[in-house]
Amino acid sequence: MTIEKSSTLKPRPASDHAYVFGKLTTDHILEVDWDEKSGWAKPAIKPYRPFQMDPANSTLHYALECFEGLKAYPSHDNKTMGLFRPGENMQRMRNSFAALAFPDFDAAELQKCITKLVQVDADWMPWRPKHSLYIRPTGISMEDSLGVRPASKVKLFCILSPVGPYYPKGFVPVSVYCYTDYVRAWYKGSGNKKIGSNYGPTINPARTVSKKGYDQILWLLQDYVTEVGVMNCFVYWYNTKGEKELITCPLDGTILPGVTRDSILQIARSWGEFKVTEERFTIHDLVKASKENRVSQSFLIFL
Ligand SMILES: *Cc1c(COP(=O)(O)O)cnc(C)c1O
Repeated sequence: MTIEKSSTLKPRPASDHAYVFGKLTTDHILEVDWDEKSGWAKPAIKPYRPFQMDPANSTLHYALECFEGLKAYPSHDNKTMGLFRPGENMQRMRNSFAALAFPDFDAAELQKCITKLVQVDADWMPWRPKHSLYIRPTGISMEDSLGVRPASKVKLFCILSPVGPYYPKGFVPVSVYCYTDYVRAWYKGSGNKKIGSNYGPTINPARTVSKKGYDQILWLLQDYVTEVGVMNCFVYWYNTKGEKELITCPLDGTILPGVTRDSILQIARSWGEFKVTEERFTIHDLVKASKENRVSQSFLIFL
């Protein structure tokens, strides 16, 4: 890989800066270009700068775009930092690439490149409780053509953003609205991929429920509880057999296979203290359980 360090560094946020998710970006960007003829070019870390894009670029017209989201966290002694299960995000990005007819890549190599980028911009880590460095790998088409066809040029890039807690108020309940005028994902669709086209159309429904005074949309699919906003969700209840159970929607192609979701399932199963289930349940099951005082907790996960 090549590394070109920026000669004009951005001003650093003050030590008490109130980070708003995704507002600040660091000094460098990782870029790896692919084209049909020559394949993947050498990865490059460069000074952060805007892209030049042809107005006919097919990302802009057909959402030929995918992304990932993960974090570098400070260690307990604030001396080092570590990425949380990055290999999972690399694999998931390969799946998104495949869904967009983008070329495959070596997950381990991308992870190495991203680790290098984090090292180059390590001094952007806020080193404050509940703060971290958000990592946003992204894939876009660089085909300058209005044709609806596989991209002959692709850019894989990664940017970093120092972030604070997503919910600054801390561990407080969120109100959710079962919005049924819009369906987030359907069977055999692409709801299990982190591709831009899954997110743009949810912004207006989210605004509608926000105007009604709710924090998030609870996405139902034929009355089945799937996700909340961009979060996987869990219910910890006494099921109808009276067993203690942690339940979440299965990976049926309609929900995003969250790394956090998987981590929670693995940890809960390792405890062996209660039943851990990946099965469909409806909003009616949940309301009934709630009325019968069988729901202990329900939670959404967002790292
Ligand atoms: C990214 C995302 C999640 C969470 O995934 P993690 O890997 O746990 O960060 C859940 N749902 C949706 C719709 C997402 O886009």
